[in-house]
Amino acid sequence: MLKIDYDFDTEGEAHEDAYFDPYELNMLFEQTRQSLDTGLRRKLEGVVCKEHNQPPSITITGRYNQETEQMDINYHVDTCCQMFLVRVVSMLNNV
Ligand SMILES: [Zn+2]
Repeated sequence: MLKIDYDFDTEGEAHEDAYFDPYELNMLFEQTRQSLDTGLRRKLEGVVCKEHNQPPSITITGRYNQETEQMDINYHVDTCCQMFLVRVVSMLNNV
């Protein structure tokens, strides 16, 4: 079973006239999480290391900077071994 963890947060000081209020930001996080989840599961569900029979574990870090009002998404992939990591990363990059 594919394991995906999400870590979304804001950083910086919110503008007085911020584009998103905290409620909308939570909605944005939730929508982003769902669309990433769908995409990742489509690509990686059922994928296991041929040698160790282990699924990958993915951590998604999303940081919404309230000063620049930009969202920054980072992927971190954990696998049992380097060979499988290379395989998973190439599958992730394969649109
Ligand atoms: Zn392995």
